Amino acid sequence: MPKELLTQVAPAVAADLNQVKEHVSKMLRCSPFDISHLSIRKRSIDARQKSIKVNLKLDVYFQGETFVEQAPELPDYQNVENAREIIVIGAGPAGLFAALQLIECGLRPIVIERGKDVRGRRRDLKAINRDHIVNEDSNYCFGEGGAGTYSDGKLYTRSKKRGDVDRILELLVAFGASDEILIEAHPHIGTNKLPKIIEDIRNKIIECGGKVLFDTKVVDILTESNQVKGIVTQTGDKILSDHIILATGHSARDIFELLDRKKIFIEAKPFALGVRAEHPQTLIDQIQYSCDFRGEFLPPAPYSIVKQVNGRGMYSFCMCPGGVIAPCATSPGEVVTNGWSPSKRDQETANSGIVVELRLEDFVPFAKFGALAGMEFQKSIEQKAWNVAGQTQKVPAQRMIDFTQTKVSADIPKTSYVPGTTSVELGRVFPGFITQTLRQGFVEFGKSMRGYLTNDAVLHAPESRTSSPVRIPRDAVSLEHVHLKGLYPCGEGAGYAGGIVSAAIDGEKCALKIAESIRR
Ligand code: FAD
Repeated sequence: MPKELLTQVAPAVAADLNQVKEHVSKMLRCSPFDISHLSIRKRSIDARQKSIKVNLKLDVYFQGETFVEQAPELPDYQNVENAREIIVIGAGPAGLFAALQLIECGLRPIVIERGKDVRGRRRDLKAINRDHIVNEDSNYCFGEGGAGTYSDGKLYTRSKKRGDVDRILELLVAFGASDEILIEAHPHIGTNKLPKIIEDIRNKIIECGGKVLFDTKVVDILTESNQVKGIVTQTGDKILSDHIILATGHSARDIFELLDRKKIFIEAKPFALGVRAEHPQTLIDQIQYSCDFRGEFLPPAPYSIVKQVNGRGMYSFCMCPGGVIAPCATSPGEVVTNGWSPSKRDQETANSGIVVELRLEDFVPFAKFGALAGMEFQKSIEQKAWNVAGQTQKVPAQRMIDFTQTKVSADIPKTSYVPGTTSVELGRVFPGFITQTLRQGFVEFGKSMRGYLTNDAVLHAPESRTSSPVRIPRDAVSLEHVHLKGLYPCGEGAGYAGGIVSAAIDGEKCALKIAESIRR
């Protein structure tokens, strides 16, 4: 049995396994030659102290002990071509991991995706960035891999079930992700690596006899006496099944409208909304690492901050070190921001959503929309931002201190947001309570993170797709819709996940429940 060891070392030591070995041998009062192998099980950075340390959890093997490498492997997927068919709407993490789990259970997934495959999708991302053209079915939110494909690929989640999280991470490694994601406390994959992994997952689904249909939008759900029977696509084709996993994400407004129209019970859900702030990465490094330059052994620093401001939560969301701000609108006539990073996080800017917690009572002015009140509130802000910034994909922007002082910025420096910015007093975009909270909150943030409140930081508006504005309620045990049998609301759009890993976990859970109900 290897010896488990927890230790802290300097970043330069952590970067060189030989130096770690020497450090460990000193700790254990043995010779480095007594150690046959060192396995790093977990790694995290502790930036709380003056001199930054790397926490390592190690397995130490001594001479005579054998280390056996256990790389994660794919499950033994069977061919399901002739098996019972289950419809999965949406090829985001929830839909794709549901499909894989269905195959493991001997069921045939029919994955239906409105957007294009990852390659085709790239052209549409170029079009929105360069030509301000929004394709309503293929964009940063829609298409193979879902909203997380062209993202930072952060893989951490608040899920307490470590086993569920580890399973998703191991599957990702088996599909080609670096095994570093199993070690890092805050793993991420990066925009340049995720598409290939997604493509390999799709190929596996097809190889096992599952079906993946791209450019296929679901426009209706067929029901009979409170039981789903199948779906209708935009071309009028019907696909039948008594089991449907609905994993269409938080931006599929037409799906929420369809459910509402068909009186399939949904309800408004609180979410959060604000701006995306961009700082020079060097400044965030200086604040977080308390040093002038972070040097070659530390990664670009992330940050995470939460405050109560005027009785509301205001917090950083989806922070992307060394990243880029992306245009994430899903319809013409609106602007939306979010962020991505390449795997090396080597861009010069750090961006993060800074959002204010919303409550159901905030949606009262939109009460006539019933369950869609939060969605209409969200839409109204995205459309206002589009209007005030010049009716293109340019976003309204303001320097941070100018925003806190209600001063239109005389100029906006070039930011990572490719479509460009228009200098606007951001109070024009948001209702008063959001503006007030953000203004005060940035001052508070500046007190906790000295240097954060600066006019070198630019705020882009709005960051509005933080989670679903609608919940599609399901039974806590069967995971079926509370009224409609055979419908499994799943992932972020249904209100049961937030982020890539938790959506994937939820996809697996729904697939397992379907298998269980069929076996019964
Ligand atoms: P989605 O990923 O939204 O997938 C839903 C799919 O359904 C889409 O592909 C859509 O095209 C399809 N669909 C919608 N309507 C229909 C229809 N009518 N017919 C057929 N198909 C339909 N999360 C993280 O954990 N880490 C990150 O670093 C991160 N960064 C992000 C960066 C960006 C730019 C964005 C936009 C999101 C980011 N997220 C991140 C959030 C993450 O992507 C989502 O939480 C996650 O993708 C939700 O998974 P899902 O499968 O539930 O839904």
